[in-house]
Amino acid sequence: MSDIVQRINQLKEEKNAVILAHNYQREEIQRIADFVGDSLELCIKAKETDADIIVFCGVDFMAETAKILNSDKKVLIPEIKDIECPMAHQLPAEVVRRAKEEHPDAMVVVYVNTLAETKALADATCTSANADRVVNSLDCDKVLFGPDRNLAYFVSKRTNKEIIPIPEDGHCYVHKKFTVEDVKRVRREYPNAELLVHPECDPEVQDLADYVLSTGGMIRHVLNSDKKEFIIGTECELITRIKLELEKTGEEKVLIPLRKDAICDPMKRITLEKVERCLREEKYEITLDEEIIKKARIAIERMLSVKI
Ligand code: SF4
Repeated sequence: MSDIVQRINQLKEEKNAVILAHNYQREEIQRIADFVGDSLELCIKAKETDADIIVFCGVDFMAETAKILNSDKKVLIPEIKDIECPMAHQLPAEVVRRAKEEHPDAMVVVYVNTLAETKALADATCTSANADRVVNSLDCDKVLFGPDRNLAYFVSKRTNKEIIPIPEDGHCYVHKKFTVEDVKRVRREYPNAELLVHPECDPEVQDLADYVLSTGGMIRHVLNSDKKEFIIGTECELITRIKLELEKTGEEKVLIPLRKDAICDPMKRITLEKVERCLREEKYEITLDEEIIKKARIAIERMLSVKI
């Protein structure tokens, strides 16, 4: 074990801290984390933990969500600069307020990829793992849904409710890279492989995939499938995550990225050195307005009450 990993483990124990990491984090961060998962799994872990300090290795909205669910705990993020998810910033609270005025009969569902202030205005949050179930659980015919218009498309195919995307063109710049041409190329090169894509991909890419799954869903699918080859249509580090899981079972499977440049830069800002400093200096701490926490928590709890 390297010196830095030893120091991280020691600090974690001394301070009763837990490290949560998203599936898109670098391999070295995934290896030292107490738990690695998708947004929904991390929300559940953040709620369950009895640690005094949560170190969140992810992007801004994820650490905020951990704070909303643990207002009495210290929530830290190892880096504060350039860790914003661009999609989360595409739906400011003001846009939700305006949409609610225009559609007073609609309920509001926002992706967890939103800032706390936006969540505070929603009836429920959702992740890509439960978006259709959250929408279908609501007692209404019309849903304002944002910020990802591609996830809105995915949901609209799985509900009878009217889905109104807010804003009209919300998207993830990483998943936006995947094209129909990419799909045709990998289908030609790997005719026996299954194509798994994320619901943040454009509709035409979703329509050509064998499965449209959250990152957690992709991991479970690969681990439980009898098939041997998979093309992964999401951020490239998910392949690392699946390989780490396969290491535990000793099983060998072939994992091909749909594009090698599908990299989320804000996710890569966190390094081992920054995690060590974060634990030692207890920074950067996430702080949020109490009223925002109270309202946003209701929207998140509503999502968590929907059975998977
Ligand atoms: S992959 Fe896309 S949606 Fe996910 S954190 Fe990065 S920019 Fe945001």
